[in-house]
Amino acid sequence: MSASDADCLFCKIRDGKIPAAITYRDEHVLAFKDVGPKAPLHELVIPLAHVSSLADASDADREMYGRLMVTAARRAKESGAAGNGFRVVMNAGPDAGQSVFHVHLHVLAGRPMAWPPG
Ligand code: AMP
Repeated sequence: MSASDADCLFCKIRDGKIPAAITYRDEHVLAFKDVGPKAPLHELVIPLAHVSSLADASDADREMYGRLMVTAARRAKESGAAGNGFRVVMNAGPDAGQSVFHVHLHVLAGRPMAWPPG
């Protein structure tokens, strides 16, 4: 983990260099609306510190990943869109569809969702 990566899109959003619709921020995490929403609620929850991928997770990251999940649940509840449930997704690596290499949880709600995912 490093504090920042100069080339990282989500570090730039965190730093206010690229605009985003921020929905939650504390000293550890940031949540904002996904620019290409796949459901009525589609937000991303990121750690403020730059971490590339869940694939690199270690015991030292347990608290950070826990914070992402707690924030996802908070945003689902606060959004008012998750009365019938919500989904959290974290893509790790190219085969899973990860396109931005700053760890992020997708929080999706507001419509029925199929399983298994594509
Ligand atoms: P993933 O494919 O799991 O890495 O997810 C990356 C997500 O970031 C996609 O759902 C994109 O729509 C979203 N995204 C890309 N650029 C932006 C942006 N500038 N603001 C908000 N979301 C973005």
